[in-house]
Amino acid sequence: PGFTVAIVGRPNVGKSTLFNRLLEQRKAIVDDFSGVTRDRQYGISDWNGKFFNVIDTGGFVSRSEDIFEKEIRKQVHIAIDEADIILFITDVTAGITDLDDDMAQLLRRSNKPVFLVVNKVDNAERQLDATEFYVLGFDPTFFLSSISGSGTGEVLDAITELI
Ligand code: GDP
Ligand code: MG
Repeated sequence: PGFTVAIVGRPNVGKSTLFNRLLEQRKAIVDDFSGVTRDRQYGISDWNGKFFNVIDTGGFVSRSEDIFEKEIRKQVHIAIDEADIILFITDVTAGITDLDDDMAQLLRRSNKPVFLVVNKVDNAERQLDATEFYVLGFDPTFFLSSISGSGTGEVLDAITELI
């Protein structure tokens, strides 16, 4: 129950870092799937007096391309099923990868609002690089540095506007 935001994206783009940022006002991890099969983490965040659940997907580790594809699909389906808003995370230092394109395609077909987050935008040069991601066509698109927290306020504002 309640409003739910799911974080999806390929490994290493900074999903868990952003998850922790979104929860930092209120460190209340309500559930933590433990063990090797753990594939998501749940937390509760609040901003502007509004509360919402956050899901960090994709805690998987996989070597095989095949399983990898399957896991990515699974993540997206978890997000589409369980979330009211999907945060689609990408990494400016990697540019747009084939997997980003695949995920973008799946996400565009969902009827959920998708916010594109270009992460690791730590400096002005990376701000320029990040504009490349507008080609994916998601509105809104945010440029973030999850590691410093810069830009997270705008994302939280946009989330709470939809609650
Ligand atoms: P996940 O696999 O998508 O959950 O990614 P993680 O949150 O584990 O982050 C992967 C790596 O990227 C870690 O070394 C993070 O410290 C780093 N990282 C995350 N966000 C940022 C950021 O905004 N800037 C930079 N430079 N590194 C980041
Ligand atoms: Mg992670």
